[in-house]
Amino acid sequence: MEIVYLSKNLTDTENLARTIAKGLFPGAVLSLDGDLGAGKTTFTKSLAATLNIKEKVSSPTFNILKCYFDGYLPLYHIDAYRLEDGMNADIGLEEVIEGNGVCIIEWGRFIKELIYQPLDIKITILNDTEREFKITCNYTKYEKIMSLIKEGLYENIITR
Ligand code: ADP
Ligand code: MG
Repeated sequence: MEIVYLSKNLTDTENLARTIAKGLFPGAVLSLDGDLGAGKTTFTKSLAATLNIKEKVSSPTFNILKCYFDGYLPLYHIDAYRLEDGMNADIGLEEVIEGNGVCIIEWGRFIKELIYQPLDIKITILNDTEREFKITCNYTKYEKIMSLIKEGLYENIITR
């Protein structure tokens, strides 16, 4: 199942993140991909706010993994950009992935071996203010999230 969502501005991206956050559960993994400036961190900030995380969420590029424990669910924010093959264990990815919280992986494409079952979100930059989010659901556990998007945000969904 696939949904293509057109974000015309920051509010649209925030709405998408908030809607997805409502369908999250312990063990959920979101793979976020898209070039620099696509909106991966912006999306994650809105998602964290919906989980009631008060701590400031920032890009984890230099830390690779950042953990937030003050919300409804633990949030593990990972930036895989600097990961090389076989380094997954070194940052403790196995400890947090599909565990008690939610994992968000920026640059999911750099995790070569698929050791988890993510909801795939690919962001394409269309212009200064517009982004296309392609959300691919390969696992039944994310079907509720897909329904929430379809029902709540149908105005932004592109059908091809
Ligand atoms: P990434 O983490 O993918 O490198 P960031 O979230 O750090 O990207 O940056 C995205 C930039 O694009 C921000 O400056 C944000 O304000 C801007 N932007 C403009 N339009 C949008 C949109 N529709 N959705 C998300 N970000 C947008
Ligand atoms: Mg980022």
